[in-house]
Amino acid sequence: MTRLKSLLRIPRHQLRNLIKITRGFPLTTPSLGSATLDLDDVEIARSLLKNHSAWNDQSKVIEYETQFAQWNGSKFAFAFMSGRVALSACIYALALQRGDEVIIPGYTCVVVPNAFTYEGVKPIFVDIELDTYGIDVQQIQKVITKKTKAIMLHHLYGLVCRDYEAIVNLARKFNLKVIEDCAHATGAEYKGKKVGNLGDVAFYSSEQSKVFNTIQGGICVTSCNDLARRMSEFYGIAPLPDEGWIEKQLTTLILNYYCCKDPHRWWKADVAEVCYGSARIESTTREEEKGIKPLNYGYKMAPPIAEIGMNQIKKIDHYNELRRITARKWDQWCMENNYKKPLIVDGSNPVYLRYPIIVEEEKKQDLSWAYKDLGVIPGIWFVSNLHPIGVHLTECINANRAVECCINLPCLK
Ligand SMILES: *Cc1c(COP(=O)(O)O)cnc(C)c1O
Repeated sequence: MTRLKSLLRIPRHQLRNLIKITRGFPLTTPSLGSATLDLDDVEIARSLLKNHSAWNDQSKVIEYETQFAQWNGSKFAFAFMSGRVALSACIYALALQRGDEVIIPGYTCVVVPNAFTYEGVKPIFVDIELDTYGIDVQQIQKVITKKTKAIMLHHLYGLVCRDYEAIVNLARKFNLKVIEDCAHATGAEYKGKKVGNLGDVAFYSSEQSKVFNTIQGGICVTSCNDLARRMSEFYGIAPLPDEGWIEKQLTTLILNYYCCKDPHRWWKADVAEVCYGSARIESTTREEEKGIKPLNYGYKMAPPIAEIGMNQIKKIDHYNELRRITARKWDQWCMENNYKKPLIVDGSNPVYLRYPIIVEEEKKQDLSWAYKDLGVIPGIWFVSNLHPIGVHLTECINANRAVECCINLPCLK
């Protein structure tokens, strides 16, 4: 967006704010992204933008990986520029080959199956259950073939997958590897351990809409020495992004703070758009939506981003606790309004990246009721089986119901 365009939008925005005030509606609504950014993150980003002297200091990244691994209770961690690339590192670590099949949930982001198809590995989509939106263990066994090499489960919206242990046990029985997609669930626990430690490999995301935030970022973990050796091989040849890209990320962080988090964002967002709007980065490109591997795919995490990451690690527990408190409020609302609460699996402690509920289809299509009644604008993850592209997997009946009726309430202010 050009500076002129964002300037021209200000009168329209502020007119809208005036209307909100006169009608008694809230000026700002809780953000669905970048809500874990604070002024200290902005300060770090600003000082990094001013001073490039430590931009090549790889020890910062190692420090970040070590801190994450320790906090997460995993033996090894490797940081990349996105969760999807961290998944690619998992795929490499497991030595999945062209022609192999991997069972994955038919309700995910398109970048997930992409990471497999880039390597010629075939994703086999399986339906989810509607208690936690996880892959349904009952459906998995039906599609295991001689070519199946792994199962990928996910902990969606920060809930711990209902069939977590059953899926891992099934995989062990059939000698299959388990990948855990923890992109929504950093910090969620099952039987006292962080998710991502029951399977063979796992990945997490610090993209701007996830549990913690480096604008873009991902990290994969394993506690197996052999798999870690292969992960580190992949990591060793991954390129570093150029300085222009890093600058854009740090600038987007400042922009997002003022648009999504600052208490006065009703006007500061407009100013920030004028100052920094041109730097905004998109998390998924058109190419990726078409299943094409972008030329610059596969970056590892850059040292300045790892510095932001370390500051964010300190806050994950705090923000996850706040999310849990909000979730109790949404529980109450569900009970009063006859909607089903998401399931808390026995022995689990979810992090509620968002609070998912199945509502009437019309209520997903037109969300204005939520703004009027609840003062929030819900998220609509996911809008298709392979969000956001228009793929329809007919056989995934529950996933399709979620596509039509699942909205997600914000859990941070
Ligand atoms: C966001 C997301 C990813 C990918 O993470 P990026 O850091 O954006 O690459 C993977 N799986 C799920 C379920 C996600 O929502």
